[in-house]
Amino acid sequence: MPSKKLTIELIPQSSWNNNLRTLLGKEKWQILRKKVLETWGEKCAICGVNTKKLDCHEVWEFNTKSSTQNLKDIIPLCKNCHAVKHIGLSGLQSAKGERNFKSLITHYMKVNKCTRYDFEKDKKDAYKLFENRSQISWKLALNNIDIV
Ligand SMILES: [Zn+2]
Repeated sequence: MPSKKLTIELIPQSSWNNNLRTLLGKEKWQILRKKVLETWGEKCAICGVNTKKLDCHEVWEFNTKSSTQNLKDIIPLCKNCHAVKHIGLSGLQSAKGERNFKSLITHYMKVNKCTRYDFEKDKKDAYKLFENRSQISWKLALNNIDIV
């Protein structure tokens, strides 16, 4: 099966404080953000939609052997793609009526050209991975990225 364009990436609970924005501070984050947006243009890196409303998404790689969380990339994502990435948070928001969860599933299915069943399976797998990764205390590695 070909890998999907839009995947669910849950940040392990043990890493919720490892937020790049917090680590860099507001000013450096803004500069980095500007650089990412200049590189990509006003376009979502996953679904390709043209929009000015983009979030910078941190792509992490988790190495269980070394307990290292590597920053692989920073990419601009539209609100829908970003909300799918962090589906746990999106679920909480929709429970409070702040988000339409159904439309996120529709977006996921459209971008990946897949079924609702595929979505549910991916979600289940992502949660399983989340549970396992949350047992580990991750060390951060930011050497892959040229930070301002
Ligand atoms: Zn998108």
